[in-house]
Amino acid sequence: MFKIIRVNMSDLSVKSEGISEAYSGLGGRGLTSAIVANEVDPLCSPIGPNNKLVIAPGLLGGTNCANSGRVSAGAKSPLTGAIKEANSGGQAGGYLSRLGIAAIVIEGHAEQEKLYKLYVGKDKYELSEANDLRGMGNYATVDKLKSAFGEKAGFVTIGQAGEMKLAAASIAFTDRELRPTRHAGRGGLGAVMGSKNLKAIVIDPTDGEVAPVVDKEAFKAAAKRFAKALQEHPVTSQGLTNYGTDILINIINEAGALPTRNFSSGRFEKAENVSGETLNKITVERKGNPSHGCMSGCIIRCSGDYMDKNGEYFSKWPEYETVWAWGPNCGIDDLDAIARMDRACDDFGLDTIETGNAVAVAMEGGVKPFGDAAGAEELLAEIGRGTPMGRILGSGAAVVGKTFGVRRVPVVKNQAMPAYDPRAVKGVGVTYATSPMGADHTAGYAVTANIMNVGGSVDPLKADGQVELSKGLQVATALIDTAGLCLFVAFPVLDIPDALTAVVDMLNAKYGLSLTTDDVMALGQKVLQIERDFNARAGFTAADDRLPEFFRQEKLPPHDVIFDIPDAELDTVFNF
Ligand code: SF4
Repeated sequence: MFKIIRVNMSDLSVKSEGISEAYSGLGGRGLTSAIVANEVDPLCSPIGPNNKLVIAPGLLGGTNCANSGRVSAGAKSPLTGAIKEANSGGQAGGYLSRLGIAAIVIEGHAEQEKLYKLYVGKDKYELSEANDLRGMGNYATVDKLKSAFGEKAGFVTIGQAGEMKLAAASIAFTDRELRPTRHAGRGGLGAVMGSKNLKAIVIDPTDGEVAPVVDKEAFKAAAKRFAKALQEHPVTSQGLTNYGTDILINIINEAGALPTRNFSSGRFEKAENVSGETLNKITVERKGNPSHGCMSGCIIRCSGDYMDKNGEYFSKWPEYETVWAWGPNCGIDDLDAIARMDRACDDFGLDTIETGNAVAVAMEGGVKPFGDAAGAEELLAEIGRGTPMGRILGSGAAVVGKTFGVRRVPVVKNQAMPAYDPRAVKGVGVTYATSPMGADHTAGYAVTANIMNVGGSVDPLKADGQVELSKGLQVATALIDTAGLCLFVAFPVLDIPDALTAVVDMLNAKYGLSLTTDDVMALGQKVLQIERDFNARAGFTAADDRLPEFFRQEKLPPHDVIFDIPDAELDTVFNF
């Protein structure tokens, strides 16, 4: 029987309860968003006692379905003021499901100046003081927890940024090797955890069991078909497996959509130096593993081991968006420097997209020159130390833009844009503008049809068809995030009809249901409606579903295009 664990930081109580009617049939993003929308005052302070942090595995978590162990974190966002869900790989999602936990809800506010850690095991939940972890980065925190709880647990932690309640703070989840390299990065959820004075959650899977399945044979057959689709599709069996997400550097650069030097160009002249092909080459030369899964059950394995010049493990492969944020967007072409900044972000507990954008905006404001890798590393180190400059940078790109008088600030709902210029990948521009999450490529990844000819083909430079494309993808993504599937399964799901049918069949077999494809798509729509409703009550209107005006005024080289999708069309995205 699945349950919800409620942790009240005001009276330091931990209680377990069954799943109420309002939350039944939901998991992952669907469940985090439903709890936040139902139980959090939309007008509350995101770092006050009335916000709640919800951590939930997906509907398919804890099963033998490939790539199904993602974990969602949700709350009112300190960065956007809107509802937020950010999900992560690592072991936590699978472990929670195997312990029969549908969600952990962290409520209230510890008044004392004390830090706490939460232990979650098989029918055992315990809060205890953790002042010895104060001021530590995620790596040192995990090392200390490992020596206390052993190597079998999964750890969920915040670094210095979360303790400082900075709006770019992330929540770290350990991977299979117990490294804090997987993050619920976006929207400052680490600051919410920090505001609760909760430094760490220890998830001990001992005595946990494979999640119950009503029809085991039907589930097994559907899981096999799903895995086959993942192994057949070229993106999930070759591209991502061999070159990681960084394979996109050359592709997006070629498309003229790689935001360069703070969104002033769509081409970076030194892109090859930071490409997935180069990342793979130096990894092989340094005898690292170029194909690594961040969680059990991943058969795509888009990650890899980044080795230093001496051939020692240094960090996980930086994601494409991370390489871009610290690379082309700051005018930097040094992969070793980018890997150092990625590791520092993992350690301080920072969203690489928000922080890289913040530094790029600071560069435009004259704080450091574009291309100054050492300067960017110095600025990042200031965030870890909590200097006044560091705190400004750790508050995100919008705050930095205001501080240094920069007009070109690429944010929507205060959240910085990822690695696709919306003028040259217009479907992504629609997603940035309208997603309840703020600028978020994962919310409706229109790069598929705009650039990769996956799930059809829509000209990335034209307005035609982009609203329909983004709409369909936002609905499908809400479903994938609710199921707890890694978003990269979307490539086969879009191209191989049986992959989506297999997902529906697995949901039916696991829960004893008879849903149709339309039913599960309606679930995706419902999740979006819940999120939009919360945002409306928080004061968001259609005027917030817009890109910054410079995207309509400044032509992006090399295609010399602007973002030209009419506002009236943007306002139709959620007409279901
Ligand atoms: S494909 Fe990549 S992000 Fe997805 S679960 Fe595997 S390693 Fe993690």
